[in-house]
Order: sequence, then structure tokens, then C-alpha cells
Amino acid sequence: MDDLNGAEWSRRRFMTAIAAGVAGGAMISASEAQAQSPNRPMGADEAIRELKEGNERFVSGKMTSFAHDLKVLKDGTVEKQEPFAAILSCADSRVPVELVFDQSIGHLFVARVAGNMITPEITGSLEYGVAVLGIKAILILGHAKCGAVSAAMKGQEVPGQISALYQYMMPAIKDSHNDVADAVKANARFQAQLLRESSTVIAKAMKDDGVKVISGYYDLATGRVVML
Ligand SMILES: [Zn+2]
Repeated sequence: MDDLNGAEWSRRRFMTAIAAGVAGGAMISASEAQAQSPNRPMGADEAIRELKEGNERFVSGKMTSFAHDLKVLKDGTVEKQEPFAAILSCADSRVPVELVFDQSIGHLFVARVAGNMITPEITGSLEYGVAVLGIKAILILGHAKCGAVSAAMKGQEVPGQISALYQYMMPAIKDSHNDVADAVKANARFQAQLLRESSTVIAKAMKDDGVKVISGYYDLATGRVVML
């Protein structure tokens, strides 16, 4: 379990930011360093707020994660990880999760599968994030023009095991009236609900520890994530 208290985490992140400024040869004030390296959000709402603010930085082109020193972050996470949120995303190459939320090494626990759906393997991964790593917020992230959702809607013959993906999305997309964006949003909501109801670990963590499972929609054109 995560055994760091908030103050210790804050101190470590702060020192990392300072080191990043020094290593990068940049003149960086303490307040700037702190701004670049937020404290690990302690609760679900704080974690969700950090995701929203990170996406805002991505959309506005004011990303700060590049200013962090990767070697320092890498060295500091060899022995343990303390991600503040988990994200289940589609495998689509146009959804680079860390970039979209302006985060770096050790910040996000990311699971990816085409159609961002809940399977036993994905559930197990997310349960690990919550039960072992202490993550308080899980985001199921759908995206515009999702090929997996589109293919499931068409239901056409496809080679190999691609059609094995369809079954997980069918309950969500059957009422989408052939609108891909609607289907993607419905699928993200459905998968979030499925996780809440099918995982005893996460259901308990929601009840006892205030863990939240939310869904979102990523717009490829604008870069913006809208929480659903
Ligand atoms: Zn997709």
C-alpha cells in the first residue's frame, strides 16, 4: 500500500521539480517549481481536478511536464510508483494519454485496449491500481472517431479475432442511432458503470475510501477531454 503521507509526497515532488530545474540548466524559482510539480492529489476530487487542469494545459499549449527531468523522475520511481489516477483508454494512437493530461513518469496508471472496455484482465489491472497503489480516481476515456466502436456498430466481417471486441461494446451502442460520437460516449459511461458494479474491490473502495470511477470523451480535433 501507499505508505507516504501527503506532506512527504509533496516534499518529494517539490525536490524533484527543483532538481529538474537545476539539471535542465534553467533558472527556476521555488514557486515555479512547485507550480510545475503539483502535490499528489490525496482524494478523488483533487485527482480529477488535476486531470482537468492537465488537459487544459495540453489544450492551451502550456504544458509543464516537459520541464520535469526525466532522469530524476525515472530514478525516483525505480523502487515504487505512486500514480494519482488510473485511466482506461482506447489503444488508438491519437490518444497519447500522458500528453493529453500533461503528465510524466509515475503519474498515471494507464490500461489500454481497443474500445476502452472492461474485461477481466482490465478489471484486474485497475483493481491493482486501487487496492495496491492507492489510486482514488479512475477515468474511462472514450474518443472521437473510435474505430473499434464504429466497427462494432457496423458489425461487418473482420479477420482473426477482431470481432471478439464487439461483444463488450454491444450493450452500450445498441441505442446510439448510428451516431459514432453518441456511441463512444455511451460506451464510456457503460464501461464505467460495469466496472463499478462488477468489481467487488472497486465497489468497496468507492464505499469505504471515496474512490470515484468516471467517464470522459476526448475530442481529437480540439484536444479537449469532456467529463461525461
Ligand atoms: Zn478507439
